[in-house]
Amino acid sequence: MKQFFCILSICLFIQHTAFAQTSPDTICILQLNDVYEIGPLNQGKSGGMARVATLVKQHGSRYQTFVVLAGDFVSPSVIGTTKMDGQRVNGLHMVDIMNKTGVNLVTFGNHEFDIPENDLQQRINESDFAWVSSDVLHKNSNGVVLPFYKTKPDSAIIPTFFRLSSVHKQFTIGIITATIQSNRQPWVVYADHLQSIKKAFKLASKQSDIVVGLTHLSLAEDETLLRKLKGLRLVMGGHEHQQNYVTAGRRAIAKADANAKTVYRHLVFRSGKKGRIKIISELINVDTTVLPDPVVADAVKEWENKAYAAFRAIGLEPDAVVYHTKEQLDGTEASVRYKQTNLGNLIAQSMLAASPQADAAVFNSGSIRIDDMIEGVVTQLDIIRTLPFGGKLCEVDVSGDLLLQLLNTGIVLKGQGGYLQLSTNLSLSGTAWLLNGTAIDSSKTYKIVSPEFLFSGAEKGLEFLKEGKPGVKLLKRFDGVGDVRTDIRLAVVKYLAGLEGK
Ligand SMILES: [Zn+2]
Repeated sequence: MKQFFCILSICLFIQHTAFAQTSPDTICILQLNDVYEIGPLNQGKSGGMARVATLVKQHGSRYQTFVVLAGDFVSPSVIGTTKMDGQRVNGLHMVDIMNKTGVNLVTFGNHEFDIPENDLQQRINESDFAWVSSDVLHKNSNGVVLPFYKTKPDSAIIPTFFRLSSVHKQFTIGIITATIQSNRQPWVVYADHLQSIKKAFKLASKQSDIVVGLTHLSLAEDETLLRKLKGLRLVMGGHEHQQNYVTAGRRAIAKADANAKTVYRHLVFRSGKKGRIKIISELINVDTTVLPDPVVADAVKEWENKAYAAFRAIGLEPDAVVYHTKEQLDGTEASVRYKQTNLGNLIAQSMLAASPQADAAVFNSGSIRIDDMIEGVVTQLDIIRTLPFGGKLCEVDVSGDLLLQLLNTGIVLKGQGGYLQLSTNLSLSGTAWLLNGTAIDSSKTYKIVSPEFLFSGAEKGLEFLKEGKPGVKLLKRFDGVGDVRTDIRLAVVKYLAGLEGK
């Protein structure tokens, strides 16, 4: 007990000194990045916007508090891909919860451009928070390139930098941004981000005492930014889903964990005789020690209940535990769209187990949308997060020629949704494709199991996969009640449950 109080008093002392270092005119920036799920993860143990709302309130009672989100929030998510009232949710739930949580400022991540242009416009209009972008522009149907803008309730252009003044007017923070150029859409124009951010920095620094970045870039790009812009004191970054803190002298790049498992707190204030601006950054765990805010928790529950009803209707029980994984299952886009991953193996093997007549399983990596690692306890919700669009499987008899064309084109599509994940009995030896160790014969017929979507001709680069096209001999669909092939997620759940039982 004595030791406990000793530790407690040390903790209190540390906390006190940290607060004592700040001035009455302190801005507390709470930084989130890459938030896809409004509810907590890991069986409710970490994350959750209701807990973030509590942190916002707690800090708001002590400091002038400003909440930023460094991109990636309207997509992808389980709830976002469900349809409610005939419309895909596409981030409506996220903006609603961010409004209720007290988010103040966001910039674009690559995933903001996953949803249709009109839907993103609606999300911008629905936001009670501000948007800022130094390097992303909108191209309208007439080819005119202008900044993105809010059209309702009032028309307002999204500015290239944001100014935040301390309440006692001791200092002003300029916030500039940069977004990774990895999700190209015809209606999105990425300006050269170094040039644009330098321009924004010039403007911001004229009107601010300190300039910081709110970015959605790879760590390497953030490091380049910090190197090129010596005046930039702090980069509040995103895109990678793991916490990171990289320093260069007194300057730093800070990234929190995805899905609000952690939040970065940056206390900004004037200090010392010269009144230089100081920043103290600290990572805060968002776990069971933080009580959820009841209002936000209720709103989250309401969205979840609506979405869960849709899943239960197709035989999925989101909270059910299906599997315990010893290794992290890699569903990050940076992996699944470039190489075969262990998660890709599991899904393809599930498809093969559901269609034992098939020689091999093939699916488009773009159907994996979780952009995250899965670890520990795997629930059906994790499978839904992984494959939010679901969809039926089909068995297709294809010529060896077509199978080879499919496999070779998959390689060409590296980095795109059409890059393929394969069952483990398919392998590449030099330039020869092998099935169960034997070279695929172009004159033979093979039976493969695949998502129906892949044979709809709608996958970019794989338009030749369609009924009636050369080499597609027979396509068998499955509609039977209780057949797991009616939804790829049912097939994965059944396969994992089988592994768990072994
Ligand atoms: Zn991202």
